[in-house]
Amino acid sequence: MTEKITLEQKVLSENDRLALANRERWQAQGIFVINLVSSPGSGKTSLIEHTVRALNDKIRLAVIAGDVQTENDAKRIAAAGGRIVKPIVTGGACHLDARMVTAALESIDLGRLDLLIIENVGNLVCPAAYDLGEDAKVVVMSTTEGDDKPLKYPAMYRRSSVVVINKIDLLGTSDFDLERARRHARQINGDIKIIETSCRSAIGLEVWYRWLYDSCAGKRKH
Ligand code: MG
Ligand code: ZN
Repeated sequence: MTEKITLEQKVLSENDRLALANRERWQAQGIFVINLVSSPGSGKTSLIEHTVRALNDKIRLAVIAGDVQTENDAKRIAAAGGRIVKPIVTGGACHLDARMVTAALESIDLGRLDLLIIENVGNLVCPAAYDLGEDAKVVVMSTTEGDDKPLKYPAMYRRSSVVVINKIDLLGTSDFDLERARRHARQINGDIKIIETSCRSAIGLEVWYRWLYDSCAGKRKH
C-alpha cells in the first residue's frame, strides 16, 4: 500500500515538531502561553492593552503581536505599557506558524517571564491547524459578529480552551443573541470556558485577568 503524503501534511508535521520544541522550552521555564485567535476586528488588541495595564505590576508578561501588515498593534500594546512586545509581520501569510514564533523568541528573555501572549493574525481558518506550542488557544468573538461563528469555524472552537465574548456593552444593538452564542460554543466544545467582556465598560475583565493569573500560578516553577 502506498502512503500519500501531501505537501500540506509535510508542512504541518514540520510545524508540529517546532511547536513541540517551543512547548518543552516554555514548560521548562514555567511560562504560561496563550494563542489569541479571532476574526479581524473582534478586539484582540484592545483586550491585550487592558491586560497589560492590569497585570504589568503583578506578573511578568511579554506579547508577540502578529499581523499581516504593519506593526500598529505592537505599537498600541507597547504604548499601553507592554515592556516586552515583539511584532511579527507575516507579509501576507494569514496565520502564524511555530517557526515565526521561535524566531521572535530569540530576543526575549524567557527566564524572566510568567505569561506570554501571542496575538495571532485575524483569521479563524488556518490558525486552527498551526500549533505554536501554546498552553491554550483563546478564541475571541464579539457581539458585532454573527452568534453562529462557532458553527462556521468548528475546528477553531474545538481546539480552544476559552472563548471570550467581547463587546458585551453593545448587546442589543444587533441581532447577536448571547444565549445562542453560548449554546453554539458549547455545542462544538463542551469543555470550553466562556468569559464575557467589554473593554469599553470593563465588564468581565476581572474574570479574564483572574483566569490568566491563576493559570500562570499553576504553571510557574516553584
Ligand atoms: Mg489586533
Ligand atoms: Zn493561513
